[in-house]
Amino acid sequence: MQVVYKSEGQIEAIRVSSLLVGDTLAEVASRIKPGMRTIDLDRVAETFIRDHQAEPAFKGYHGFPASLCISVNAEVVHGIPGNRELKDGDVVSIDCGVNKGGFFGDSAYSFVIGEVPAKTIELLRVTKRCLMQGVSKAVEGMRIGDISEAVQDLAESHGFGVVRELVGHGVGLKLHEKPEVPNFGKKGTGLLMKKGLVIAIEPMINAGKKQVKQLNDGWTIVTSDGLPSAHFEHTVAIGVGKPDVLSSFDKIEIAEANNINLGKPHQITEVNG
Ligand code: MG
Ligand code: MG
Repeated sequence: MQVVYKSEGQIEAIRVSSLLVGDTLAEVASRIKPGMRTIDLDRVAETFIRDHQAEPAFKGYHGFPASLCISVNAEVVHGIPGNRELKDGDVVSIDCGVNKGGFFGDSAYSFVIGEVPAKTIELLRVTKRCLMQGVSKAVEGMRIGDISEAVQDLAESHGFGVVRELVGHGVGLKLHEKPEVPNFGKKGTGLLMKKGLVIAIEPMINAGKKQVKQLNDGWTIVTSDGLPSAHFEHTVAIGVGKPDVLSSFDKIEIAEANNINLGKPHQITEVNG
């Protein structure tokens, strides 16, 4: 499959979908509280997405049963919403995709509930900064490996583990397109990026070792050492001179700040690392 370059009109449609993902995650973030089941958050998201004349892109994707991936603590990504109740001290990574009119947006954000160890706060802050470091390289004339190395270097400089098995990806006309966007690699390597390319950059960073394994449910990826993991993701159009971030954390961050049940790792707004 070839890399698909998008027209400016297509990019604007992908922006609409990507912003709806952010709005959905903000709606979900405003509802998170201890004792709530992850399936309840999934229903909030599905209703919100459908109320906005869009489809949850994950639901039915290769048989995935829900609208959100909700991955708690040692779960890295692809957690299936269910009867599990959230509790104080949990790290909750929520990934969402929507399809509106045939255009796809994809974004993820990690939250903490109540009090967590300082190391966990550091994990979330660094993972979010890794994303923004990667995003800063999403400009015409740079290569995919420039993104990869920027993410890996920052994560490893804090002693965290960079997941190898799962990667970012092209996005827009499908949920997952070429090229792969690894969170590890060497600058100056990989696809030369140019205007029209739209990618999801999504560092998955572990507090401990990089190794992961898949649970018997066929979906959930967990850390091998049982330590927590964090995940942040933006949909980004390659820009000339600067990246064009199509998704947004603005409303999510407001919801996070206003929800008394959530810890606040991100009071300091970080731009480009
Ligand atoms: Mg995603
Ligand atoms: Mg993705």
